[in-house]
Amino acid sequence: MIKNIAVIRGDGIGPEIIEQALAVLDKICNLYNHTFHYTDVDMGGCAIDKWNNPLPEEMLKKCLTSDSVLLGAVGGEKWNTLPGEMRPEKGLLKLRAGMGVYSNNRPAKIWPQLSSASPLKQSIVEQGIDFIIVRELIGGIYFGKHETETVDGKLCATDVLNYTEEEIERIGRIGFETAQKRNKKLCSVEKSNVLDSSRLWKKVMHQLCEEYPDVELTDMLVDNCAMQIVKNPAQFDVIVTENMFGDILSDEASMITGSIGMIPSSSLGATSCGLYEPIHGSAPDIAGKDIANPIGTILSAAMMLRYSFDMPKEADCIEKAVSAFLDLGYRTADIMPSDPQEAQKCTKVGCRECGRRIIENMKL
Ligand code: NAD
Repeated sequence: MIKNIAVIRGDGIGPEIIEQALAVLDKICNLYNHTFHYTDVDMGGCAIDKWNNPLPEEMLKKCLTSDSVLLGAVGGEKWNTLPGEMRPEKGLLKLRAGMGVYSNNRPAKIWPQLSSASPLKQSIVEQGIDFIIVRELIGGIYFGKHETETVDGKLCATDVLNYTEEEIERIGRIGFETAQKRNKKLCSVEKSNVLDSSRLWKKVMHQLCEEYPDVELTDMLVDNCAMQIVKNPAQFDVIVTENMFGDILSDEASMITGSIGMIPSSSLGATSCGLYEPIHGSAPDIAGKDIANPIGTILSAAMMLRYSFDMPKEADCIEKAVSAFLDLGYRTADIMPSDPQEAQKCTKVGCRECGRRIIENMKL
């Protein structure tokens, strides 16, 4: 199969981790006789430096005409003082909106080899952590009106949180359909005791539930959900929630699995052209040191093969190679055990060696 992949290396550790993911995809081409064409796209801080625009139109067009987009990460201190429209993150929001990817799917799964890296008590980890957060991605407060004005001589800032029935319904369907493919449990998370947008959210979810009788729907307030994720994560199968709640809860969920560097994500809309990226940011504190963990990006590439290119065997091949890499005791710095005795059993590797060792373990 021939596929065109738009590649956004971005800022900070972005170029380093993308390099390893592309090497893994090249190996897939060798093993399975595919051809992937990569088109470089400037987005984020590097695009601001080069084009004075975090995502120029022609760059967005390259993404929209590709079969899927693979993104490293964008952002950094250097661009933090620029006005809102000129920030690297604006490029990301414009890309998500332009691609119409309204559903962000983040697995929170603990690799058995890394169970001791979880900050949770082992008694909780042993019950299992394996759930997915389905987050609405192009609506809600991040896309509402933002305004700072002076009222009675004092600054007053306003951010508008708005959802339509249609926006809730289409993400709700993804939640139900994801649950149907898993353990058929869907938890809808909102703040309906306070927010009108959440009351509408809850109403739409319950209307939809009638169309998915095989799925058990529960409701949970977002503050309780934040507690339950650390107290009893084994209770969750699929969580569906709005943009900002999903942003916060999915970072919390990633932490309990060990390292933010391990978690991939997919963002999908009405077509098969998806946006695939690790959930972490550009990690400027470790950029250029060859110590970043590329596994979240490599697993994002695997998700791309599975969900956009219909290549489940190829995706399995990557995931098995990551598992074999961990079985052999290789660890990047962020997933090295803190216990010195445990650490002695592991071999610390940098970003490049991590990619190389995973590729060594990729087999038909
Ligand atoms: P971050 O995720 O970049 O880093 C948080 C911590 O995790 C840091 O200590 C970092 O070293 C570590 N870390 C992250 N990824 C890692 C990896 N692959 N391997 C090892 N360690 C890793 O979050 P931050 O520091 O809050 O943000 C840094 C920049 O990234 C900011 O400019 C922010 O706006 C941007 N950001 C971008 C995205 C994106 O591109 N999708 C997402 C979040 C943050």
